[in-house]
Amino acid sequence: MAKPVILIVDDELPVLNAVERDLRQHYRSDYRMVKASSGAQALEAVRQLKQRNVPLALFLVDQRMPAMSGTELLAEAGKLYPEARKVLLTAYADTEAAITSINEIGLDYYLMKPWDPPDQNLYPVLDDLLSDWLATVPVPYEGIRVAGTLWSASCHNVKDFLARNRVPYQWLDIEKDVEARQLVETLNQEELRLPVVFFPDGAVLIAPDNRTLAEKAGLQTRATQPFYDVIIVGAGPAGLGAAVYGASEGLRTALIEREATGGQAGTSSLIENYLGFPSGVSGADLARRATVQARRFGAEILTAQEVTGVRVEDPYRIVALSDGSELSCHALIIATGVSVRRLGVPGIEPLTGAGVYYGAAVTEAASYRGEHVYIVGGANSAGQGAMFFSRYANRVTMLVRASSLAMGMSQYLVDQINTTENIEVLTRTEVVEVHGQDRLQAITIHSKDSGEKRKVPAAALFIFVGAVPHTELVAGIVERNSAGFILTGPDLTQNGQRPKNWKLKRDPYLLETSVPGIFAVGDVRHGAVRRVASAVGQGAIAVSLVHQYLKTV
Ligand SMILES: Cc1cc2nc3c(=O)[nH]c(=O)nc-3n(C[C@H](O)[C@H](O)[C@H](O)COP(=O)(O)OP(=O)(O)OC[C@H]3O[C@@H](n4cnc5c(N)ncnc54)[C@H](O)[C@@H]3O)c2cc1C
Repeated sequence: MAKPVILIVDDELPVLNAVERDLRQHYRSDYRMVKASSGAQALEAVRQLKQRNVPLALFLVDQRMPAMSGTELLAEAGKLYPEARKVLLTAYADTEAAITSINEIGLDYYLMKPWDPPDQNLYPVLDDLLSDWLATVPVPYEGIRVAGTLWSASCHNVKDFLARNRVPYQWLDIEKDVEARQLVETLNQEELRLPVVFFPDGAVLIAPDNRTLAEKAGLQTRATQPFYDVIIVGAGPAGLGAAVYGASEGLRTALIEREATGGQAGTSSLIENYLGFPSGVSGADLARRATVQARRFGAEILTAQEVTGVRVEDPYRIVALSDGSELSCHALIIATGVSVRRLGVPGIEPLTGAGVYYGAAVTEAASYRGEHVYIVGGANSAGQGAMFFSRYANRVTMLVRASSLAMGMSQYLVDQINTTENIEVLTRTEVVEVHGQDRLQAITIHSKDSGEKRKVPAAALFIFVGAVPHTELVAGIVERNSAGFILTGPDLTQNGQRPKNWKLKRDPYLLETSVPGIFAVGDVRHGAVRRVASAVGQGAIAVSLVHQYLKTV
């Protein structure tokens, strides 16, 4: 823990220096003295200390100062550090003001000037106050702190980004934490922009974008080389699988991810069917392990960096990045996966992130303890979500369009749901409208059997309704099906005909696209089996195909 601070404030420099000297002599080993010669300077120092989350143990403040009296300063500064002990330095004539302050601002003590000898008149009083402070004050959190409101989409994005990138942080809800609110308000003078992210070095970011946040949080966002043997786009299970095998087999490997490693799997609360984890593994844990493993073999992993386009300049494949830079390679693996399909019902857009979430939104689970939450969807991911939220929420209602769960879900999950008391399943039912001012308050559900529409209160809505592929970056470069999924290997040869513009004398390899040296793996492929194991397996197979391809470059 950083040394707690004793703040000394006096406008008369000789007095200020004398107090500092005496305090140093006695408290130097345990406390840091910070001095200020005016109320305004002191308030600025307090604000900066708070920003860095440095504990402040004691204010020792002169009562008579121009512009702002000691009492006024303590009233203001005490809002940011309510636990700090407050001592006024007074002259005889100020005694009345000091006594009034005991009630008004919770003054702990007033000291008469001069305080000589300090052994008698200063240290005993302060020792007492400081030991009292030490016994009651909580140890401050020394990492990144994110201050905002629960019902804000931008706050959710920042928390989600940090959590998915395994960057620890402390959440400060400014609706519940008065000190945090004060601090946020001092930084947002005009309009309140959230979240505010505080770093241990005192830096502050207000409503940052992912790349700025990633850079400040120490994640790698830029490549160290201009050229790699293989570049992999997308760090879900398929991309991570390819990175582990590529790097471990000696290829110079870069893995580029726009959000967080782990992809969709990283958002899963519990993956129960992945080989080697008999009790299941959380997506976050699997992502962490795979990321460490890929790094250990020497893969470079860039996060918060999007590939916006791909160009071919034989023998190179060149990727354009969202920061305007480019990287080149001999072989390119597209592992960009899919996104959940959006639910286009009235009222939903402004509430997305504020009670409405796509996917399991694991970071939000604890916020819905004891509440009634709704899940939309009837496939495995919806079932897992329901099981996960049933541990927190009082009640979970699944809204399923099909006439039974078994039509779209693995039987083991159907069985678990049927035996979980606080999960209710409404089949042939859909959400038709979403309601709420700043956060979700209710939804309207429609029963296809009775035709009835009901508006019901809802604390949260978690949506799992299918997928769209991320293939814009290769649009017009490689062949895709009508839904945008990438065609590979045998899917490219029709009636014995190789793809248009294919000049090689061999057929495309199993996971190769219509452009030699560009491969596609995982969910982004046409006909993919959407499973973690298949994605990882394809990542590994793609690397062996890359080796074959590189022999010809
Ligand atoms: C909630 C949930 C639960 C699931 N549970 C299971 C389960 O229990 N068992 C199971 O086997 N499967 C499960 N799945 C399916 C499984 O997670 C997917 O099949 C798997 O993640 C696919 O991996 P992928 O690497 O192909 O793609 P993804 O996981 O989708 O990863 C693709 C990555 O590419 C990144 N990306 C996209 N475009 C770009 C770009 N232009 N530049 C840079 N990066 C980009 C994305 O941000 C993403 O991180 C679940 C899925 C979900 C959503």
